[in-house]
Amino acid sequence: MCWRVSDLTIIGGGLAGAEAAWQAAETGVHVTLFEMRPARSTGAHRTDLLAELVCSNSLGSQLPDRASGILQDELRVLGSLLMRCAREVAVPAGSALAVDRALFAEAVTAAITAHPRITLRREEAGDIPPGPAVIAAGPLVSPSLASRLAQITGEGNLYFFDAIAPVIWAETIDFSIVFRGARHHMEETEGGDYINCPFTREAYEQFIAELRAAQRAPLRAFESDIDRGAPTAGYFEGCLPIEVLAARHPDAPAYGPMRPVGLIDPRTGRRPYAVAQLRQEDLAGDRYNLVGFQTNLTEAEQRRVFRLIPGLARAEFDRYGQMHRNTYLNAPRVLKPTLQWRAREDVFFAGQMAGVEGYAGAIATGWLAGINAARCLCGETPIVPPAETMLGALCRALAEGDPSRFQPVKASLGLLPPLPSGNRLRQGRRARAAAFAQRARAAMAEWPRLMCGSSALL
Ligand SMILES: Cc1cc2nc3c(=O)[nH]c(=O)nc-3n(C[C@H](O)[C@H](O)[C@H](O)COP(=O)(O)OP(=O)(O)OC[C@H]3O[C@@H](n4cnc5c(N)ncnc54)[C@H](O)[C@@H]3O)c2cc1C
Repeated sequence: MCWRVSDLTIIGGGLAGAEAAWQAAETGVHVTLFEMRPARSTGAHRTDLLAELVCSNSLGSQLPDRASGILQDELRVLGSLLMRCAREVAVPAGSALAVDRALFAEAVTAAITAHPRITLRREEAGDIPPGPAVIAAGPLVSPSLASRLAQITGEGNLYFFDAIAPVIWAETIDFSIVFRGARHHMEETEGGDYINCPFTREAYEQFIAELRAAQRAPLRAFESDIDRGAPTAGYFEGCLPIEVLAARHPDAPAYGPMRPVGLIDPRTGRRPYAVAQLRQEDLAGDRYNLVGFQTNLTEAEQRRVFRLIPGLARAEFDRYGQMHRNTYLNAPRVLKPTLQWRAREDVFFAGQMAGVEGYAGAIATGWLAGINAARCLCGETPIVPPAETMLGALCRALAEGDPSRFQPVKASLGLLPPLPSGNRLRQGRRARAAAFAQRARAAMAEWPRLMCGSSALL
């Protein structure tokens, strides 16, 4: 425990900033956490709560041999506050860790505001503070801080676009048409936590034709680079709007978010031609989100086109989909694997702003930035987990990626160092994944011992 009274400033009370604040404060450091909401909104957040999830309520697969499952496991081992809160308010979602978003954000907010060494200031920060800091202002960072960051990091506004999927009230779903089931690991989901809307070929073709022709919402002025072909602008390929996917090829959704693999409609005894899947949003089961249907259609067109989905003819929308700006740094040029800014080593970046994609990745980099900022304040060297761990691999991918083609990095088995060649040749895909996971677990278990002497800040 570092008992020295120190001050750390953290900008942004989202997933990364809240985790960073908690971890630093737990080491004994005094933290001032700046969160601009509710005085100033991002346009996507709806509440004044810390750690608000703005779109999906899923933190990804929990399966121990999946990349996100490995990362979640590491966060549990490392004592993550947000992972603990997530597990306490989990909703059924097959093998995924999905949460009741309101209860999750309330739990995190309560923990942070009750911490004796964290001061929460509801103010917008317009600049990087002169002392030690963690910048975790997220993909929708306020314009004044964004332009200041662009100025001082020399990277300009690097941004791309992704989009939010709509949320539908459960009572407006026609349960005489849809059926429950999950694509993968049916045996682990006890009948399936997803609601599937089954398409015949004709229904699919009509739906796709309407989707391709539907009217899209106009882009705002600050988002217009998407049409100019700037090298750093464009959609994030992992989160394409459904209408953009359909425009690329009419069959693309049927091979992507609408693939019917592993699903049998109990009413026909056959696999549908395609499906739209709905995942539970809240513990009460009142609302469901349309998985993979992030969209930039106008609200009127969302009502018209998505009601063509079998079972959703009378769907009422709790939230419409929308497209949004997404701001991040060119991490390989700007950051070290410790998440330190190369130009000023007492400043750390975390979350989406650091170039990490996904909720679990934001929490994980928040954890590391909080620990490392506290270590700097206590005169200790910043650390990075071993390369064989998912968090270690993520941080290295940020700092060591190709700066000329950098896009946000998501937890993936492909980031991990290769297995010994004997393993690679003899094993199948699942066995290789299990070997990656086992090696990551062993490396993470060993890490605190390797760091001995500084383990008080682990
Ligand atoms: C619309 C949208 C949809 C997304 N959907 C998903 C999804 O479904 N799944 C997924 O895994 N990821 C999704 N992402 C990516 C997602 O943002 C990240 O996974 C995660 O929320 C990033 O965490 P963060 O802490 O970096 O940012 P955030 O959680 O956004 O937190 C940043 C915080 O900083 C505050 N802030 C900004 N500027 C300032 C300032 N100047 N001063 C003080 N406070 C400030 C903001 O109000 C916010 O609370 C989505 C992103 C967006 C924008």
